[in-house]
Amino acid sequence: MSRCKNNQAKKTKSEDTDTLVEKFPLHLTNKQIILVRNLQREAAKVWNAACTVHRTIYIKHHCWLGEGAMKAFVKGKYGIHSQSAQAVVETYFECCERTKALHEQGYTDWRYPHRKKYFFTVTWKPLGIAHEERVLTLSNGRGREPLVLNLPKRLSGAVIKLVQLVWHRNQYWLHVTVEKPALQKVRGNVTAAIDPGEIHAATITDGKEALAISGRLLRSLNRLRNKVLRKFQKAIYRTKKCSKRRRELLTAKYRFLNNIERRIEHVIHTISAIIAKWCLDRNVKTVYIGNPDGVQKKDRGRKHNQRMSQWAFGELRRMLEYKLKRHGIKLVPEDERGTSGTCPACSEYTKQTGRTYKCGKCGFTGSHRDVVGASGILDKSVNGNFTKGRKLPEKVKYMRSRVVTLKKAA
Ligand SMILES: [Zn+2]
Repeated sequence: MSRCKNNQAKKTKSEDTDTLVEKFPLHLTNKQIILVRNLQREAAKVWNAACTVHRTIYIKHHCWLGEGAMKAFVKGKYGIHSQSAQAVVETYFECCERTKALHEQGYTDWRYPHRKKYFFTVTWKPLGIAHEERVLTLSNGRGREPLVLNLPKRLSGAVIKLVQLVWHRNQYWLHVTVEKPALQKVRGNVTAAIDPGEIHAATITDGKEALAISGRLLRSLNRLRNKVLRKFQKAIYRTKKCSKRRRELLTAKYRFLNNIERRIEHVIHTISAIIAKWCLDRNVKTVYIGNPDGVQKKDRGRKHNQRMSQWAFGELRRMLEYKLKRHGIKLVPEDERGTSGTCPACSEYTKQTGRTYKCGKCGFTGSHRDVVGASGILDKSVNGNFTKGRKLPEKVKYMRSRVVTLKKAA
């Protein structure tokens, strides 16, 4: 999905819907592949034309052509839907504006769009989209063959605002912007804190209760990914360039990566959904999340570094943020330093080695280190500092990541 503001579906102000992007890979027939490739070529032609015309007019007449004029110029000239052509022009101008802003901030390395494209992402706007049950018909203008696709079951009744055809990792993907009914909002003002980690993907507490979600599945999937990827890289390295064998291996590698990363993503989805439900049930309004930036940047050897960079923390935070936002919950990052090592009883810092917390000063022990960590983050963000004799959550629940369904608005 392009990050361009113009290409995103216009945000409706109404409170009873949420705009979300659904992504899924396409399984196309040979005929469809030819059609899709041609569409992407046409979109690239629009982009190239915008580039050339914009510059030529400036060189000849010393004025920059506006967006409206450019849209009028490309109208009806290319083999895609007129609104799809407009979307490309919008992306082009968006790009120019962004570069201009960057230049003004002093980042002069950024170049204005100049490179010739051979393929470009195709966007369909509402006028070009017709959809009935699970069949999606994307118009390419009058007299041209439309692109007919099957939607996944979950999108059969959805309100579709925008569709994009994207080439990602050796495969065509569809990014569909849909409107979904708003979810139940929290009524309450409880504060909670999350300690993200490796053994427990996330530990959340509101001071009274705690929930620790196992990160075991996530870790084993990551390990599998690294192991198999290493095998692929070795084999690919041994083949000749442009050989049939190398091509086959690359296809297999991409297929594997697609598969495993979707599984990893699914697990992260599940973890964040469990947390969202937990927050909703306890009327949590604000959630502080430990920010392990310091932990990740420290160099502790190759193995550890790889494990840390694949912690998938950024992904978890991103998903949590939008899932919680749908319930009206705010997610605030909080510096994690010292939170899991500071004793809840005497607030002295001890470096932790085991999973169970042990204080080197007063001998406090008996709680899980991640629970102490989450409680520490909560304490630090609410009171600004660690309190002596802080109470730990009494009820701690341990959970594996499993699928939960979300409640609809009442
Ligand atoms: Zn202590």
